[in-house]
Amino acid sequence: MRPVAFIEPPGWMTEPATAVVLAALGARGATIRFVGGCVRDVLLGRTIKDVDIATPDPPDRVVELLDAAAIKAVPTGLAHGTITAVMPPRHFEITTLRRDVETFGRHARVAFTDDWAADAARRDFTINALFLDAAGQVFDPVGGLADLKAGRVRFVGDPATRIREDVLRLLRFYRFHAYYGRGPADVAARAACKALADRLPGLSGERIAGEVLKLLLAPDPMPAIDMMAEDGALAVLFPAGVERDRLAELIAIEAAPDAVRRLAALLPSRADVVEEVAARLRLSNAERDRLLLLADPPCAVDLDADERTQRRGLRRLGLAAYADLVLLRAAETGRGADAQSLIDAAPRRLPPPLPVRGRDVTRLGIPPGPQIGALLGQVEAWWEAADFQPDRAACLARLAELAAAR
Ligand code: ATP
Ligand code: MG
Repeated sequence: MRPVAFIEPPGWMTEPATAVVLAALGARGATIRFVGGCVRDVLLGRTIKDVDIATPDPPDRVVELLDAAAIKAVPTGLAHGTITAVMPPRHFEITTLRRDVETFGRHARVAFTDDWAADAARRDFTINALFLDAAGQVFDPVGGLADLKAGRVRFVGDPATRIREDVLRLLRFYRFHAYYGRGPADVAARAACKALADRLPGLSGERIAGEVLKLLLAPDPMPAIDMMAEDGALAVLFPAGVERDRLAELIAIEAAPDAVRRLAALLPSRADVVEEVAARLRLSNAERDRLLLLADPPCAVDLDADERTQRRGLRRLGLAAYADLVLLRAAETGRGADAQSLIDAAPRRLPPPLPVRGRDVTRLGIPPGPQIGALLGQVEAWWEAADFQPDRAACLARLAELAAAR
């Protein structure tokens, strides 16, 4: 295979960790090439995430070569031919070239090969099937370079066939379109997505969540989300409906993207819906709790409420959830500027912790027990009603009064 282009190798390709891994893998003469996201992103001048490497050597040989160079090798998907080489500051995912023999969803039966074109043919999109070697030579068996430059996300081969082999590719299509697509999306791909969207529930929750959260994190996921709505995929994923406009508005006003906050904006603000989605997508407890809090907050946030009410909300919710809710409320009403001033003011508005503690109550001779909490609660209500102004001395005095009046 002949290179179609040449690029000046970027820093990460020549840094010592990369050089050491490449030298180890090539020690017995194998041809080693980068593939996937790192090649795509380098060609676009974007910062890369992880580094994927392709080699014709089978996985056991890869492990041997890494061992011989004293590089830590973790078999992350031995059956799929993937070994992770751990070389701080990076992880290198090393995958043996393979061809698909039979495909059953994610459990493709693969055969290892030394044929680079066959390996490209089993990859999902042409822009993901570009190879790059250490000298900066770009290899392009399926026409990915032109697609990358034109902003075309195109399946390798027939879209419907490729989606039937692995339905995750349907979601990956929209995700990659959000990051790399420009202009109208590939017509054949969309027709296949539309026809096969009803197969999405066959995917595991984790795989769906991974794609959905990555899609939501795109600088502007709205064109892809709108396509998913038109093609019927969004309704299959979220049968209780979505708040499309709220998400679009949130994206327009937020300072930085946050996948879970964006999901909160997209989902209807109903605890039952959020619970169902979190369970089905197997979200982490932290993600689920955050979604629940935003859908059904313990304390409402009102952009127009006075400063005192804002302080009270801040104290109940904490800075992070308060800021999230301010953004969601503003997204519902198209008031981004107001949201930003509330968020900017929040850190200095946040009340201090209650200036008295349980120990202060026992010092007054109250025995340990439920009375301690009850008295603290009374002081707290008084302190809150006074807009958190009373200091420790004033709170101690009030506590003494309440204890004496008991
Ligand atoms: P990212 O920037 O998200 O890491 P990536 O393209 O590197 O993007 P990976 O999930 O790391 O994505 O996969 C590496 C490569 O493996 C892809 O570029 C693609 O060639 C191939 N690949 C991954 N998942 C699939 C799939 N479901 N079907 C076909 N090929 C896939
Ligand atoms: Mg990758």
